[in-house]
Formats: sequence, C-alpha cells, structure tokens
Amino acid sequence: MGNLVNPSESTYDVVVIGAGIVGAACAHFLMKEGLRIAVLERGVVGGGATAAAMGHLVAMDDSPAQLALTKLSLQLWKELEEQLPASAEYRQTGTLWIASNDEEMAEVRRKHELYRSAGLACEVLDSTALGEAEPRLRRPLAGALRVLGDGVIYPRAAAQFLLRGVVERGALFTDCNVVSIEGSTVLLGDRTRVSAGHIVNDAGCAAPDLTAGIVIRNRKGHLIITDRYPGFLRHQVVELGYLKSAHSVTADSVAFNLQPRAAGQILIGSSRQYEDDDTAVNHDIVRRIMERACEFMPEVATLSVLRMWTGFRAATPDKLPLVGPSPENSKVLLATGHEGLGITASMATGRLITDMILERESPISREPYLPSRMTREATHV
Ligand SMILES: Cc1cc2nc3c(=O)[nH]c(=O)nc-3n(C[C@H](O)[C@H](O)[C@H](O)COP(=O)(O)OP(=O)(O)OC[C@H]3O[C@@H](n4cnc5c(N)ncnc54)[C@H](O)[C@@H]3O)c2cc1C
Repeated sequence: MGNLVNPSESTYDVVVIGAGIVGAACAHFLMKEGLRIAVLERGVVGGGATAAAMGHLVAMDDSPAQLALTKLSLQLWKELEEQLPASAEYRQTGTLWIASNDEEMAEVRRKHELYRSAGLACEVLDSTALGEAEPRLRRPLAGALRVLGDGVIYPRAAAQFLLRGVVERGALFTDCNVVSIEGSTVLLGDRTRVSAGHIVNDAGCAAPDLTAGIVIRNRKGHLIITDRYPGFLRHQVVELGYLKSAHSVTADSVAFNLQPRAAGQILIGSSRQYEDDDTAVNHDIVRRIMERACEFMPEVATLSVLRMWTGFRAATPDKLPLVGPSPENSKVLLATGHEGLGITASMATGRLITDMILERESPISREPYLPSRMTREATHV
C-alpha cells in the first residue's frame, strides 16, 4: 500500500489523518456513504498503537457512556463478521471476568445485572462452572462473569480490511507526514497541501501535535506472546482486579489478562504505566505480568515465550475518547483518546464521525464524547 498519486492532485470530501484502527474505521463508514476520502498515514497501516494491541473486543462499564460506545461497537463488529477476511481472526470467544473472593463475586453480580439490563448476553459462573469453562485456572476461584458477545480480533489485519475500499481508489497515502492543519487544509512534510470539506484527526497519541488544547497522556503497556498451544485456553480471561488496574491513575499496574489467538498462541497481558515514554521493554514489568498470570493459571509457567513488546494507549483525563468537532477549528473532527479500548470502540467511533459529517442522528447520544467537554471542564477549574 504505497503512494499511488499525489494527494494534492484530487479534491476530497474528507481527509483522515492516521491509518490506525480508528482512522480505518472512520474511512470505512465514510466510504460506505459514497464520500471521497483520502487517508494520510506517516508510517504504515496499523503500525501505531493498533499494532501493539491485544485485540480484545470487550464491553466495558466504567460509565454509562463507555458501555453505550462499547456495546454499539460490538454490534457493529458482529455485523461485519461475514465480510471480515480469515486473516482478521475475528472470533466470539466471550470474556471471563474472574472473581478471586466474595467481594469480587459481589462485583460479578453487579456487573451481571447491569449488562443484562443493557441487553448484553452474560451469565454468572460459580466456582465449579468456572473450573469447567477454563480447566487450567487454579482452584478454587470464587467464580466469574461470562460475557458471551465479547470477542477477539487481529487488529492490523482488521485495519487493512477496513481500508480496502480506500486502497482500491488509490487514496491511501502511507509514508505521508502531516505537519499541520490550517482551516480545512493539511500541510504535508514535503510542503504539499491537501484540502477537504472536513478533516478527521485520527492520529492517536500524536493527535495533540496537530490540534492544540487537547489533553492526551501516553499510557504504556506491555504484552507477551507464546508459541502455539491449541486448546490451552478458550476464552479471553481477565481478573476483575484488571478494572482497578485500568482505573489507577498514579501507580504502575499489572493485571492478569490472557487471550487465545486463533492459531493457538497465547497473548499474556497486561500492564499500564504513565510517565514512561521509552519504547523499550521493562523486564521488571514483564516479570510481574508473568507472575500474575501464573498466580491465576500456574501452567503459564510452562509456556514458551516467543516475543514481547510495548505500545502506548492515548489516555484522556476522564477515560472517554474525544469524538467530535475540535474546539479550535470547526473543520476538524477529532477521533482519538481511546486508551485501552480503541480496537473495540473504533467501530462506533467511525459511525459517529460519519453521522456528524452527514449531519444525521446516531444510534447513541454523541454528547459524552464531544471534545468540547474538556474545554468546559478546564473553564470550571
Ligand atoms: C498494550 C496494549 C494493549 C491494548 N489492548 C487492547 C485491546 O485488547 N482492546 C482494545 O479495544 N484496545 C486495546 N488497546 C488500545 C488500542 O490499541 C488503541 O486504543 C487503538 O489502537 C487506537 O487506535 P488509533 O487508530 O487511534 O491509534 P494508532 O493505532 O496509534 O493510529 C494512529 C496513526 O496515526 C499516524 N499518525 C500520527 N501522527 C501522524 C501525522 N502527523 N501524519 C500522518 N499520520 C500520523 C500514526 O503513524 C498511526 O498509524 C491496547 C493498547 C495497548 C498499548
């Protein structure tokens, strides 16, 4: 997927900056409506946070707005199932949210009620049922919530699929660095200018370089992948303590999070760190991830590790993404700040951005994700 024509030689309805999963999803939904799109990517498709991600498609309920966004996204991913290529490795594995004790079982029941009332298929597993669902988990554990509609995907292949139509029209420009946005024109590193009716800033962690005044912090994560062990694991398995880890805004945190890949490899996560912009693997964090995984599933210690890597989540202060008009330029729409949920939430984000550009209603309220909330909050401080 290289540069096919000079982007400045054509006119576009929408220029999308960034070919991560979020930019790809925006381009996908915009193209479906017949709009002329150019996607400008300074690296390769899905080479940013998208390449580092686990690809867990998950309903999350930190807030009603997060639940609405992830629920809509899961539905949109499911609707794509028949069209996704095998390389995207989409599977509805379900998630097991593991409770270690009675206190966490109370949280399982709270989550169960909430998810059921939101229309998400789920069930409470007691200790015995959990052991049957995932025989390699240590025993006894208190139980779990099984969320049946959650799944897994291979994010880079999914991004490539979503951009297929853009590639066929020769409007994907890789190795194409956007230096700035001026009104409805983007300025490229080679000094060419590309204009469009709308510009969507999908640059992930780098979005603030192009749109001043938005607050995004890098949140580093580590992942580990093993050799192939088909049948070792059936579900995405996550400790409920993961939620504490995701919520922590100060300390480095590690939580048990295991994923079965389609070919039998096991992805082992996960960690969260602020204030560390070094891409290098931190072996102390890796050790903590492996220890945590072995606490829940002792046989993990016998698996052969092939590779480990890091990536950065684009985190906003209120843990919701920024989706909507830029406070500083009405021609620019932002679609960034998805932290650890961008693979999941890319779908709903693409849909909401498309609805905004076409000035039509969306299936969920767009209000909670509008970037203007940040400026409103800033003025209240
Ligand atoms: C360790 C880890 C595990 C994760 N696991 C999950 C998970 O299981 N489930 C889930 O839902 N999410 C997960 N995430 C989060 C997910 O990876 C991100 O939220 C998502 O990939 C964000 O996608 P994006 O398109 O916004 O950003 P990116 O993938 O970073 O894409 C942004 C793109 O913009 C390009 N760009 C930047 N600046 C410019 C410029 N000036 N000009 C041109 N192009 C530019 C970049 O090169 C990049 O390709 C995880 C993240 C990490 C780090």
